[in-house]
Amino acid sequence: MNATKTRVRKQVVRTLNFIPNIFPLDGTAALIIRTGKLLVGYWLTAIPSAIGGRAFELVKGERRGGETYHLRILSDGRAECDCKGHVHHGHCKHGDALLKLLELGELPDLRSADQIVDSKIAA
Ligand SMILES: [Zn+2]
Repeated sequence: MNATKTRVRKQVVRTLNFIPNIFPLDGTAALIIRTGKLLVGYWLTAIPSAIGGRAFELVKGERRGGETYHLRILSDGRAECDCKGHVHHGHCKHGDALLKLLELGELPDLRSADQIVDSKIAA
């Protein structure tokens, strides 16, 4: 280690902004993940899971057609995501965001077709 050059690792601050139920019809929420200066918005919707756990679709809100990620919260409290970051590192900002929303009790619920019809009537 070179004592004259001290490397200071910058702490990257990550914040999460969340608007629940922005589309009441299907319960879609808006999610903004800020990592340092980078701000990325997503649409978060609960989707059916054929393999257990709670499944979610996260669509990156970009003008040129956002990428879509599929996430699952497992019964043991872990999050899975199909993004590159998760595949390489075993965790990612999407999974971390969902676990935070789970902790806050803010994860969207899966809407059944009946509930969607009900909310149409109520609107
Ligand atoms: Zn991810």
